[in-house]
This record gives sequence, structure tokens and C-alpha cells, in this order.
Amino acid sequence: MLSELKNRVHKANLDLVKNGLVILTWGNVSGIDREKGLVVIKPSGIAYENMKPEDMVIVDLDGKVIDSKLKPSSDTAIHLELYKAFPNIGGVVHTHSTYATAWAQAGKSIPIIGTTHADYFSHDIPCTSDMSSAEVEKDYEKETGNSIIKTFKNLNYEHIPAVLVRNHGPFTWARTPEDAVYNSVVLEEVAKMAQLSFALNPNPDMNDSLMKKHFERKHGKDAYYGQDE
Ligand code: 13P
Repeated sequence: MLSELKNRVHKANLDLVKNGLVILTWGNVSGIDREKGLVVIKPSGIAYENMKPEDMVIVDLDGKVIDSKLKPSSDTAIHLELYKAFPNIGGVVHTHSTYATAWAQAGKSIPIIGTTHADYFSHDIPCTSDMSSAEVEKDYEKETGNSIIKTFKNLNYEHIPAVLVRNHGPFTWARTPEDAVYNSVVLEEVAKMAQLSFALNPNPDMNDSLMKKHFERKHGKDAYYGQDE
């Protein structure tokens, strides 16, 4: 069942290791089949080098495990909340990549201060707010998902396909699991560049027209970056 999506999600998970975004059993990637309403996600706590495509776990949007021996990622409910709230996404990634996680642990959004950032994200990468003890104790992962959704209440999730979960780490998303991994790679580099920039200048700045130009030339209605299809 869903063997093609399992292959893709398995490869996308291994690509986290290949891109240096995770070690050990950290992180997780999922993909959704919107027609079937089913999500394929990494099993919890299995070392990447031992993971096989058939180990990927299928869950429905309520988190019920379908036809799988292994337990799904402990972060599954976060992924599910994102799929429910962001209808145009097809893949979600979580990593503990060092620089993005450092910003999350510092509780700071990553300000948009360079064209590398603006080429992929239209504004700052937001950091979620503190969760209450009640939220942590009751439905921790579901509430973590809700804290992301709250953060995006007035933000465009397709123009800013990334978030820093406070004290935890980054999540990214995209139309496919492969592109969500790509966004995690970009996010980590952007987080690293921002940290180095702040070390050199505590008040870096970028003018709005430059920021808009870089986002629009890749993603706007008159985008001209790259080759014609
Ligand atoms: P899982 O192995 O359960 O996906 O956990 C990894 C992780 O990074 C938790 O935040």
C-alpha cells in the first residue's frame, strides 16, 4: 500500500543525513496522499542506516496507524496538524540542524537580512511562542502543531515555508517531501549566514525593495529566475 510514496519518503529521510541536517535518529520527513487522506512518515527512533522503505508508517489524518508494524514518528501529530491547516502542502520535514535549532533555542525569528533568504522566504522565519505547561502536558505534539498554526495566522505559509519551534527546532514544508527537504537545506544555510552576519554587525538591515525583488523574481507572477519550462 502506498509503495511509491513510501519509497519517496524513505529517500527524503535519508537525504536529511546526506545533507548533514540530522544525526542518530533525529528528525523526520512525511508525505501525504491527499486523495486517500493518508500520510506516510518515518518510524520513531529507528537509525537511518537501518531504515527500509517498507518501514515507513502509514497513518490517517486522525493519527490512526494503518497496516504498519512500527510506531510512527513521535512528532506525527505535528505533521498532521500542518497537513490539515495548510491545504497546499504535500510534505513536511523536521530536523535538528545546528544553526536553525540554535535560533529556535534562542527563541528568535531569523530576520530577513540577505538575498539568499529572500530568494526562498518572503519575510523573517518566525519562531513560535512559548507553550503553556497545560499544552505541554496534555496533547504536546498536537499543541506544538497548533502553536505553528497560530504563528502563521497572519503569514502566508506558501511564501514562508518554514518555522522555528521555540526550544525545539525547525520544521519546513512544500508541495512534495523532496522540496520540503530542499527548504530545510536552505533554511540551515540561511540560519548560519544570519548568525555570522549578526556577529559582524549587531544591526544588519536590508532594504524592502531588494527583499521583494529577490522573492518575486523567483516566485512572483512575472518570475524570470532559471530556465523556461
Ligand atoms: P522520531 O524518531 O520519533 O521521529 O523523533 C525524532 C525527533 O527529532 C523528535 O523531535
